Amino acid sequence: MNVNVLTLFPDMFTPLQVSLLGRGQEDGKWKLNLVNFRDFSERPHKSVDDTPYGGGAGMVLQIMPIKAALESLENKGKVIITAPQGRTFNEQMAQDWSKEENLTFICGHFEGFDHRIYGLADEIVSIGDYVLTGGELPTMSMIDATVRLLPGILGNAMSPVEESFSDGLLEYPQYTRPADFEGQKVPDILLSGNHGKIDEWRHYQALKTTFLKRPDLLKGRELTKEEQQMLLDIKAESEQEQ
Ligand code: SAH
Repeated sequence: MNVNVLTLFPDMFTPLQVSLLGRGQEDGKWKLNLVNFRDFSERPHKSVDDTPYGGGAGMVLQIMPIKAALESLENKGKVIITAPQGRTFNEQMAQDWSKEENLTFICGHFEGFDHRIYGLADEIVSIGDYVLTGGELPTMSMIDATVRLLPGILGNAMSPVEESFSDGLLEYPQYTRPADFEGQKVPDILLSGNHGKIDEWRHYQALKTTFLKRPDLLKGRELTKEEQQMLLDIKAESEQEQ
């Protein structure tokens, strides 16, 4: 996969050079192409922003350098603009994007974009209901979530198949040694070696965690017969615990 990023701060992207994503780049599994759209400004001092029409605080990014930078790309693929007003990013979007050959992210800064810049995008995406100083951290989060799903990035030992959100549920509780830490014991079932029972327990716990922490994720989910029964048990269990 080839990922283009239009940014005024290409130096911010070093986190993508380390660990699994860094190795993935070295192995040629994906490529990051950082483009500083300041280079495409035709104004004195390479300015890229100006004061807002109608008045108000802050500076607004102009469309010309961003459009020129986009047009300079060999393969732009899907164009994604980062903005608080966008659709909230989620795992399903990461899965969809991981099937693309090319992606292009545009990072804003200052007060944000001249409204006409949104017309250059296929998607406008936010990472949550809060405001950051720039689109660089959102872009890095979205690249990380997307690229880790590419074949060979996580390696054989880790699988993105059984984690939170991958099947619409949050992850079940995980444990490693010791089996008893200051009296906090690992559930017996996990030590039993009975894989059928362990799978069932994990499914139940994933459903329980989701029901207790993020019930909104269960809305619209088609529950299997088994899950319907599990949910009844979970509700009875949590009423007892109260
Ligand atoms: N004035 C704008 C905010 C600008 S913040 C507003 O009120 O909506 C500057 C830039 O940071 C934005 O252009 C965007 O690229 C990025 N940004 C800030 N918060 C973000 C978020 N929650 N998700 C995605 N991008 C964000």
